Amino acid sequence: MTTLGGAAGFEVIVGGGLGRTPMIGKTLREFLPAADLLPYVEAIVSVYNLLGRRDNKYKARIKITVHENGIEEIRARVEARYARLKTLFKGADQQLLQQIEAHFKAPEFICEKAPEFDAFKEESPGFCSWVDTNITAHKAEGYAIVSISLKKHGDTPGDATAAQMRVMSELAKKFSHDELRISHEQNVILPHVHRSDLPTVYRALRTANLATANIGLISDIIACPGMDYCALATARSIPIAQQIATRFAKLELEHDVGLLKLKISGCINACGHHHVGHIGILGLERAGVESYQITLGGDAGAEAQLGTRAGPGFGAKDIVPAIERLVLGYIELRADADETFLQSYQRLGAAPFKALLYPKEK
Ligand code: SF4
Repeated sequence: MTTLGGAAGFEVIVGGGLGRTPMIGKTLREFLPAADLLPYVEAIVSVYNLLGRRDNKYKARIKITVHENGIEEIRARVEARYARLKTLFKGADQQLLQQIEAHFKAPEFICEKAPEFDAFKEESPGFCSWVDTNITAHKAEGYAIVSISLKKHGDTPGDATAAQMRVMSELAKKFSHDELRISHEQNVILPHVHRSDLPTVYRALRTANLATANIGLISDIIACPGMDYCALATARSIPIAQQIATRFAKLELEHDVGLLKLKISGCINACGHHHVGHIGILGLERAGVESYQITLGGDAGAEAQLGTRAGPGFGAKDIVPAIERLVLGYIELRADADETFLQSYQRLGAAPFKALLYPKEK
């Protein structure tokens, strides 16, 4: 969503997607008034319906259509179609819109000053560390957004037991206006917690083994089910994620390393979003043996970009030491403690990072 001259609207981007053919979306329209969204989206789908590939199920994607025809051609066709559809569009069903909006109405916040986080420091060092990594600022004064990590070191990323789910549900009811969200990063969010309730929430999470303070750190890994559960997999993902998390917990370095998005997929379908990991790991099968390919420099943020393959893959027993060399080497390379892995990579380029991964090739 964006604004132009005070009017609300959208930047419209098409043709992005991961999977076996990863692509970054391209801007189709810098600004589209909000009221025109439905006919415009209909125009896009209509153009895709005409040009989309039906001869090959792997190419039946908007991203392929945009790539093969070029964004200029797609834009010209969408705009022409939109010009016709707009005249036929009678406006969105306001009653239906209101019904939908009612489901997403923000709760009534009690906007009052809450203690600064510093005041909680007496609680425990664990609490302070959890506040540092798992709490995000909320738009309402006195509130915080709590991310519950489902990435306890050594556990299966994204898993929770039935008992843990009940605890999270109770916490959502009591402390988050009965709201709980599941993030694409395989964690759980309590979106509206009053800051004065944070110590109570933390203690309940700690008792339930849910207070791991690692959101955004190297052990907060997105890992797809891989060969343990997925029939399409060519390699295991979960054990690799578990070993990396356990290794960095042992080194007690992950808070020093700071923000680092590591993502693992067990085959080229890329359900673990490895293409947009600062470090991505793709599990493949080579002559009946698992091989793990590393990509570097991907980013799923506002400046989205795809990672670049670093070089030959590593065997299952070599991938964790390779990641360790890479991350420990980054600590030496970074300009200062505030420069993230991705920023160092963008500043220095791939060469020093490849040298860390493949030391004999120096
Ligand atoms: S990326 Fe992972 S979950 Fe997706 S199809 Fe491949 S192995 Fe299965």
